[in-house]
Amino acid sequence: MKTKVKNQKTLQPKAATFNVRKVRKDFPILKQKVHGKTLVYLDNAATTQKPLAVIEAMDTYYREYNSNIHRGLHLLSEKATGAYEAVRVKVQKFLNAKESREIIFTRGTTEGINLVAQTWGRQNVGAGDEIIVTTMEHHSNIVPWQMLCGEKGAQLKVAPINDAGELMVDELKKLFTRQTKLLSITHVSNALGTINPLAEITSFAHSKGVKVLVDGAQAVPHLTADVQKMDCDFYVFSGHKVYGPTGVGVLFGRYSLLETMPPWQGGGDMILSVTFEKTIYSKPPNKFEAGTPAIAEVIGLGAALDYVAKIGLANIAAHENSLLEYGTRKLLEIPRLKLIGTAGHKAGVLSFTLGDIHPHDIGTIVDRQGVAIRVGHHCAQPVMDRFQIPATARASLALYNTRGEIDALAKAVRKAKEVFE
Ligand code: PMP
Repeated sequence: MKTKVKNQKTLQPKAATFNVRKVRKDFPILKQKVHGKTLVYLDNAATTQKPLAVIEAMDTYYREYNSNIHRGLHLLSEKATGAYEAVRVKVQKFLNAKESREIIFTRGTTEGINLVAQTWGRQNVGAGDEIIVTTMEHHSNIVPWQMLCGEKGAQLKVAPINDAGELMVDELKKLFTRQTKLLSITHVSNALGTINPLAEITSFAHSKGVKVLVDGAQAVPHLTADVQKMDCDFYVFSGHKVYGPTGVGVLFGRYSLLETMPPWQGGGDMILSVTFEKTIYSKPPNKFEAGTPAIAEVIGLGAALDYVAKIGLANIAAHENSLLEYGTRKLLEIPRLKLIGTAGHKAGVLSFTLGDIHPHDIGTIVDRQGVAIRVGHHCAQPVMDRFQIPATARASLALYNTRGEIDALAKAVRKAKEVFE
């Protein structure tokens, strides 16, 4: 089987500027040994490692200008506020949003989706209405909608995927009715690597008057996410999957929608004035950022986006795509190894099963060889059900991975085969 890997046409790598050996030096964690072997970190879809630039940006904040934001008139607070708000503008540019006030800081993808479900969703979805998701969604893009549907008496509909793990777009289109209020869909599948054709899908959804939320958790580390080109209404991602810290994420929302949405959490920083009789809320984005946010983490996220920009997403995509093709070839040389997720348009995920060997057994042996991969259902149980398997082993790629590491993976998987077959 040959899996041809394409990526977004807009990403043209700059010639010969990407040097993986040099890039690896930016990530101190990669130097260590595990079980006496040099670490091969291939669990990047779970979380990516952090470059020094991110670690140092957070360290500098705590050492030199730790202070609460938006509140103090003193110098440190002004500095912290400036740094925090500068990241909002960086994220705006990163997503090509029209305005920085369309960017809301959250705790991560999960919180972003829950925020939309509990605000826009509660306001706009009623009894008999429908929300569409797809079979390839992460649990965090299923459960919040199930909760909302349960509360409102609405229905959750599910678009199917084919045997390659590609969305069946024609079938998806058939699910839309007059009752459909929202399509919530992943940009890139964490379990399969499939990249969805979002521009076509959002334009269809909008022609039916349906809003679109895109889960970008697995997309932003690998490809350009342009919210204006995609024309989505909401876009969410997590900082920790794009070389930033945990505890911070982003919700992009079209401003005209954010304006009409009720706040989610109440508290400090999201109000203009409070009396016991009446509270007046701030405008977005502050309306949705109650309480002291993750200031250091936002600053770390800013450093991560600067780092990605410095390397160039086009270079990252080209490097990862070449690794993906190499890895696909290497793994398929192993007898009885089956790739789960062979979409024609795919980002850096190699999910597989190996004969009757349980993925957990593969994971254990592979770990002993110093290779970190993920085994399990990857918080995407409906994908496992679709392929009638309990779990897969998953290697997922980042900009610092090498062909040598793919070789180490293939060798470790062969070892697992020897032990268990
Ligand atoms: N969606 C997708 C596609 C994911 O891969 C993940 C993380 N595995 C999430 C959502 C949830 O992200 P977080 O746990 O950072 O909120």
